[in-house]
Amino acid sequence: HQKRINRGKISYFDDNLRMQLERIRRLNDRLSFAVQDGSLSLVFQPIIDSNTNLPSSVEALLRWQMDGEPVPPDEFIPIAEQYGMISEIGLWVLKNACIQGLEFQRIIPDLSISVNVSVMQLQGQKFVVEVADILRKLSFPADKLHIEITESVFAKDKSTFLSTVKSLQELGARISIDDFGTGYSSLSSMLDIGVDIVKIDKTFIQDVDKKGLSIVNAVVQMASSLSFDVVAEGVETIDQSEKLYSLGVSHLQGYYFSKPLDASSLCTYLESIKKAS
Ligand code: C2E
Ligand code: MG
Ligand code: MG
Ligand code: MG
Repeated sequence: HQKRINRGKISYFDDNLRMQLERIRRLNDRLSFAVQDGSLSLVFQPIIDSNTNLPSSVEALLRWQMDGEPVPPDEFIPIAEQYGMISEIGLWVLKNACIQGLEFQRIIPDLSISVNVSVMQLQGQKFVVEVADILRKLSFPADKLHIEITESVFAKDKSTFLSTVKSLQELGARISIDDFGTGYSSLSSMLDIGVDIVKIDKTFIQDVDKKGLSIVNAVVQMASSLSFDVVAEGVETIDQSEKLYSLGVSHLQGYYFSKPLDASSLCTYLESIKKAS
């Protein structure tokens, strides 16, 4: 045993793999109780209309504390998807985002709420009915619900999701393509989807002087003929913000305007904006 030259290497990889599996097992185990045990919460990040400088929407972003330790969504969402928990968690998100949205609309009546939905939720047979149910029970105005779907979903096989997307639009909800530019789907395929909003991925926004410029220009041009809204996500500096405005991007979102805020901080933020305007 000890004599093997590469013994150290092997045990390093073994240990690493074992720790990774152990972590996934623990996340999976705790996550299965998350909807019940109150460890999920939402934060909200404003999306600013660049013509009025006022928030037109807020994006709900899921947060999870596992035994008091925050776990980022990029780590736990894939686990929720893989282990069949995303539908239940996704419905919790949708319902609570709408409940909070109604509160926010008491301050700014036209405010929309943007909710991220995973591809596995869209595949669920009952998804559209469940969305309709939540909207009806809460009397939430459907046209103020924006459903964010990651672009890569449509790059693969668009046709599967097209009817679900259409049904959601028939309810009155608006469809937003998230992380646009990362999924290799063509701009013209946005035509078939009949998308309402395109969110350009933050990698292009943070590099808008270089490789980002052509994609921003292309999306803005297509937006004016197909009449969808454009959101630049991940706007961190005043320079980026001014550049994007001059390029004709209609909506801006990012740390430059506001970090994601808990519900009560967002209310304070909205109140202060209402007073100032
Ligand atoms: P996303 O939907 O593209 O959300 C934008 C992410 O960028 C958020 O990360 C947000 O906090 C972050 N962000 C906002 N402004 C800036 C900025 O100026 N600079 C930088 N560097 N980042 C910024 P977060 O909250 O960690 O969420 C990560 C991803 O997890 C989301 O990406 C979304 O795909 C997923 N996610 C979050 N909540 C949910 C949910 O309720 N359901 C589903 N299915 N996915 C969710
Ligand atoms: Mg999003
Ligand atoms: Mg996303
Ligand atoms: Mg995004």
